[in-house]
Amino acid sequence: MTGIFGRLRRMQLHTQILIGLLLGAVAGPVLGDVAVRIKPLGDAFINLLIMVVVPLVMASLIVGTASLGDLRKLGRIGLKTVGYYVVATALAVALGLVAGQVFDPGAGMDADVKARMLSDYAGVTQEQLARVAEKPSIAELLVRIIPRNPFQAMAETNFLQIIFFALLFGVALTILSEQRRKPVVDVLESVNDAMIVLVKLVMRVAPIGVFALIAAVSAQFGYGVLLTLLKYVVVTIGTMVLFTVSFYPMSLYLSGMSPAFFFKRFYEVMVFAFSTSSSNATLPINLQVTEEELGVSNDVAAFVLPLGATVNMNGTAIYQGVSTIFIAQVFGIGLSAGDLLTVVLTATLASIGAAGVPGIGMVTLTIVLTQLGIPLEGIALVVGVERILDMTRTAVNVTGDTACAIWVAKTEGELRLPEATRQATDVARAS
Ligand code: ASP
Repeated sequence: MTGIFGRLRRMQLHTQILIGLLLGAVAGPVLGDVAVRIKPLGDAFINLLIMVVVPLVMASLIVGTASLGDLRKLGRIGLKTVGYYVVATALAVALGLVAGQVFDPGAGMDADVKARMLSDYAGVTQEQLARVAEKPSIAELLVRIIPRNPFQAMAETNFLQIIFFALLFGVALTILSEQRRKPVVDVLESVNDAMIVLVKLVMRVAPIGVFALIAAVSAQFGYGVLLTLLKYVVVTIGTMVLFTVSFYPMSLYLSGMSPAFFFKRFYEVMVFAFSTSSSNATLPINLQVTEEELGVSNDVAAFVLPLGATVNMNGTAIYQGVSTIFIAQVFGIGLSAGDLLTVVLTATLASIGAAGVPGIGMVTLTIVLTQLGIPLEGIALVVGVERILDMTRTAVNVTGDTACAIWVAKTEGELRLPEATRQATDVARAS
């Protein structure tokens, strides 16, 4: 026994995490109630990560901006990032729509099955609908980015507001004299370093946290619903996989990084996003891997990744594209070319205002449905498999953020590839 544990302990952390994930998936249904009872271990793990994220983002963004000392550069990075995010999100929705049209996931659903699902999940749907925020105008969205109280923004983990304040704070520091600026920057640098140490400590219990989270999900998962919705689930996940193995490698190629190298180092972050269903909770580990293992400078990563956790959700965008078509098909509603364009626009905007927390993609899906006049009860058709789709789309969402950070860093000359990376990239180029 000690032999096994000894060997496990010596294993690389990311291998341990993967084992936690696989064991959790297999053990969940066997453990049943026990799996549900150990879920607090997983929740505690998520809380530990979320606990770190606000001070980490705040400190590293302020230090990053204050050390940039060049506002034009900040503007350039901002424009590139937003441009990349908008293009990637719109392409993702469009791909979701195409996949929906080609594979008809909702065609031919049995009328009885449909009626049963609509009534089974009616309660859940009402709960979801109650969470639907009103659709704000673009002007309102912009105004809301300015926090009236930065501490409240931090208390609510509102990344857009936190980023807004941190950037301005960093800019203000650059205007101060060196003598006044230095003490603040020194303190924040130490806060940043301390948070990174904390993340590394928390990561040591990640295998257990991931095991508990996945075991609870698989113990509770309704495999019957999965079977009924198999086509919809396969089309949605298949499209996300397609996007991940086509768009990101293209983007990485433009950045001069080998996709094989990228995924080898990054898959740990994807496993994490998959287990927690939350881009926010994944942010601390994503920052660490993107900077230390993939060579993106802190200036770029500290800005691009937190922004992406809120704004850039490629997986969610694909999910919204496929789901809209699926629900419309089940209700027998035809969508015109104009409608499809509306989906691209609305889903892109909807994903921008949504936070990177579990289940938000289904809430914002209602905005898209409303825009097209599709009955919101349609949510009842997809809610049964929401969790597995949420996990998958979160893994894609965080991949998109880092692919963007790598590209921006490359174009800014701030991609400092470690020696091993360079060799891997050269080999990939040569072949
Ligand atoms: N859970 C996703 C995320 O955190 C958002 C979503 O629900 O689509 O990135």
